[in-house]
Amino acid sequence: MSAPLYPIEGVASWNMNTTCNYRCSYCTQRFVEDRKRWARDLPRFVSGFLALPGDWEIKLSGGEPFRHPGFLETVRDLAAGGLRVSVVTNLSASLEDLLEFASATANRPGVLSASLHLEYAEPEAFRDKLLAISRAWAGRVCVTCVATRDNLPRLAELASMFEGLSFKVQPEKQDRDVIDYSPAERDQLLALGGHNGTGVIDPDLSGRPCWAGSRYFVVDHRGEAWRCYPARRYRQEHLGNLLDGSLRLRLGAEACRYRYCNCTVPQQRGMVRL
Ligand code: SF4
Ligand code: SF4
Repeated sequence: MSAPLYPIEGVASWNMNTTCNYRCSYCTQRFVEDRKRWARDLPRFVSGFLALPGDWEIKLSGGEPFRHPGFLETVRDLAAGGLRVSVVTNLSASLEDLLEFASATANRPGVLSASLHLEYAEPEAFRDKLLAISRAWAGRVCVTCVATRDNLPRLAELASMFEGLSFKVQPEKQDRDVIDYSPAERDQLLALGGHNGTGVIDPDLSGRPCWAGSRYFVVDHRGEAWRCYPARRYRQEHLGNLLDGSLRLRLGAEACRYRYCNCTVPQQRGMVRL
């Protein structure tokens, strides 16, 4: 299979903190020993991102990135440097802070991906807050919700509540893999668009050329960078550190080495063929 065309805009997913005000039962980070870690030397991170070759979008996530004490200041600095800034958030931040994010990124807005966590958030209040932001912002807004077995029967109705906004479901994972859904549950998931609207649930893309590592990478709160989330999970394909000058991006698309790809960005940005 040939590689997809060169992606003009690269994307870096920055897990800037493990801190979160929620403790969702399905959180992939709930076994992380210390949920209070955050990126410290923010100006060095910003310099590292600004030094990347070509055009980049920085996708901020955590934990809950709005809980990082330097979050808004960092958003302003990244945006002032001309980078597109996106965020993955549980939307629990104040409307004032969310609107400040929208204002800071107005020149080159990215995606605000709002995760609806039904163990904590009330759907109508969540929707109203999201609508208030989407009225004030030119970027894309989407809603995601984890399809736990408890949530699954509610998701079609929830999707209709968010009409006009993009509503995507995410399969629940335990111990690195998608849970053992029954065939009927898998049909329900596919009817809802599969993983983040990709039309599949747990794709095996091993062997396919993928631009992750070259035009996509994942970086943690210490600056350590990996090709993608599965690479980080298995501690393979470490790309170096963004802060100490050792980051080395790949030069082209390379074959995927993983049996299960849960990386939405490379899949949705055409960096690998599904
Ligand atoms: S909001 Fe996200 S980071 Fe926080 S506990 Fe829930 S799944 Fe984990
Ligand atoms: S797991 Fe996904 S993102 Fe990572 S190399 Fe494979 S296809 Fe690309």
